[in-house]
Amino acid sequence: MALAPARLPFAPQPISTELLSSWLLRVAAANFVELSELLQGLQCRYGQVLTSAPMDYDLPAADVQALSQFCRIAPKRIRALDLRLRVPHLNPALLLRFPDHFLMCPRCSVSRVRYAFCPLCIASQPVIHVHWEWSLACLIRCGLHRIPLLECCPDCGEPDPLTFSALDLPASRLCRSCGSDLAASTVCLDRIQDKGNIQAVGDVYRAALRFPLIRIVVALIPKRLKSLEISESFL
Ligand SMILES: [Zn+2]
Ligand SMILES: [Zn+2]
Repeated sequence: MALAPARLPFAPQPISTELLSSWLLRVAAANFVELSELLQGLQCRYGQVLTSAPMDYDLPAADVQALSQFCRIAPKRIRALDLRLRVPHLNPALLLRFPDHFLMCPRCSVSRVRYAFCPLCIASQPVIHVHWEWSLACLIRCGLHRIPLLECCPDCGEPDPLTFSALDLPASRLCRSCGSDLAASTVCLDRIQDKGNIQAVGDVYRAALRFPLIRIVVALIPKRLKSLEISESFL
């Protein structure tokens, strides 16, 4: 996509709960190119933008402007996807990342945050996307369905299994590597006995990311966290 147009012909709208990289993967799919090709086209037109990693955190203003023009989306809708704005009290070291050996990945894995996913959320999404909460290392259960998030495809172990479809095509819930149905996964990861308490800690953690005063309350329960085998470094 080295000879990219100044404005893309197909530009799906961002979904308010998704990661920036999730939206860009969907933009790439809509234009029938890989994310690496999409970024080459963007940089060919707008210079060295979207070069910092992970792209999902602390997006520079110049990058927002370039994406806004390239994708014909209002800047504020792109800025709203930035994890730094969503969770200003988050230590970015606690974001999931792909290993370095994915360096030449056409999906630009090392430049994105990694994600776990909820099979029930995937089953109900009209458009497959990555919920931003799935990139937080400390959240191990879906806040909606209360089931453990899956770190990879249960059948083949692919760590980036979601398939993003072109516009007007039905959503594919199949692993992009092995083709198994990610929404129908019956893998049971519920081996932890104290799951009610773990869910409660997860809920408090979600709140603490948004409201710093709650961090005081969280700080009062380190012994409880220890008994639940959750690291205090998450706080
Ligand atoms: Zn869910
Ligand atoms: Zn698979």
